[in-house]
Amino acid sequence: MNDTIASIATSLGVGAISIIRVSGNEAIKIVNKLFKGHDLENVSSHTIHYGYIVNNKEIIDEVLVSVMRSPKTYTKEDVVEINCHGGIASTNKVLELLLLNGCRMAERGEFTKRAFLNGRIDLVEAEAVSDLINSETDIERRVALQGINGNLSKLIQEIRRDLLQLISNIEVNIDYPEYHDIYEVTVNDLKDKIPNIKAKLEKLVKDYEDTRMLYKGINVAIIGRPNVGKSSLLNKLLDSNKAIVTDIPGTTRDIVEGTVYLDGIKLNIIDTAGIRKTDDVVESIGVEKSIEVLGDANLVLLLLNNNEELTNDDKELINKTCNKTTIFVINKNDLETKLNLDNLNLEHVVSINTLDNQGIEVLKDKIKEVFNLDKINNNDFTYITNLRQITKIKESLNILIELIQEIEDGIELDILEMDLKEVWNTLGVITGESYDEELLDDLFKNFCVGK
Ligand code: GDP
Repeated sequence: MNDTIASIATSLGVGAISIIRVSGNEAIKIVNKLFKGHDLENVSSHTIHYGYIVNNKEIIDEVLVSVMRSPKTYTKEDVVEINCHGGIASTNKVLELLLLNGCRMAERGEFTKRAFLNGRIDLVEAEAVSDLINSETDIERRVALQGINGNLSKLIQEIRRDLLQLISNIEVNIDYPEYHDIYEVTVNDLKDKIPNIKAKLEKLVKDYEDTRMLYKGINVAIIGRPNVGKSSLLNKLLDSNKAIVTDIPGTTRDIVEGTVYLDGIKLNIIDTAGIRKTDDVVESIGVEKSIEVLGDANLVLLLLNNNEELTNDDKELINKTCNKTTIFVINKNDLETKLNLDNLNLEHVVSINTLDNQGIEVLKDKIKEVFNLDKINNNDFTYITNLRQITKIKESLNILIELIQEIEDGIELDILEMDLKEVWNTLGVITGESYDEELLDDLFKNFCVGK
């Protein structure tokens, strides 16, 4: 921790600029030894200086050097960043000189690890930094940013504060067992507050599952009888002619897939052959696949033909999807209405026609509504981003469930207190208030060098 560390912060290759980052007590002194320009030891904090990196009077590179003094820096230590000309040779040479003059090569994630150890960020925020760097989609970026903003950390701290309050009440009770009324108050307090804490943790688990689905993409299955317009709808959603559209029933024999982005959220759309009883061998394969696909679908778009009365096949499909999130899409609304859905009590119904694109935007809005996609932009929504965090949340939840039963069973307060402390500790591991070296090594080794 006392070493001054250095590493290349940008990716190594030919580029316009490379940045070498130095952090630690000696950062300014070491860079100053190599710098020809202002005396960096006497410049103000958070200033940038033009000059040269020199080695025994030989100019190595023309650079801009940023000097940032502790504590308002990424690591809370003195930090110097050298912007040199991009390129492998000069960047490596500058780094080599820093190492020869007293810096140690930084390990992966060591700058962020120092930010954590020096108390600038907690572990959730540190992990969010890594998530942000590794984001490939806009949604991942937005979720990671929520972590950096500290929303989850605040929530965990709040829950731990509540737990601590309960723990201290119990301790008073154990210390003064002769006051029976305090016992009553304490148990009632537990009965009152524990379900509330449990609900907050359950919400985190639910939101985690939703977020994961958003990361991986929502699997959307388009189903319906042959000829209702499934392929036409898929093409409209994909804006391409991937599915072959014909008016022979059963044309879409195999499964056609494609990806669309709705407000940056991925929809994996699968158009299936009509699920219906059939003797046609090829189509049977399609039907089997359709049923498989239905199993994986997070959302079903069940197409019905506005121009035909409801058939038994339609009814069977409606039954098949009754425990799935389904939007009933009534296609061909340019033709005379013969379909009657009264009495069916369907929750999400959208009327469209794929010939002149009518209702497609309404359908997209409906998908957003059903998945509450707008909540992703809502700052109150707290995300768990990784397995380490969610595992700890689930562990805490399990202890709380046991605890509720123990309260019901009239178990001694000192046992209840032990459980509460365990939850308190487990949640503390998430933010890093309690941690061991192994956890830190494991966590930061996933970072890139220079971060
Ligand atoms: P699938 O078998 O369910 O995939 O149906 P298709 O997408 O292949 O469409 C079957 C037929 O219905 C084609 O001739 C389409 O042109 C026609 N069709 C699709 N959508 C509409 C629509 O909204 N209105 C009308 N009038 N015809 C449509």
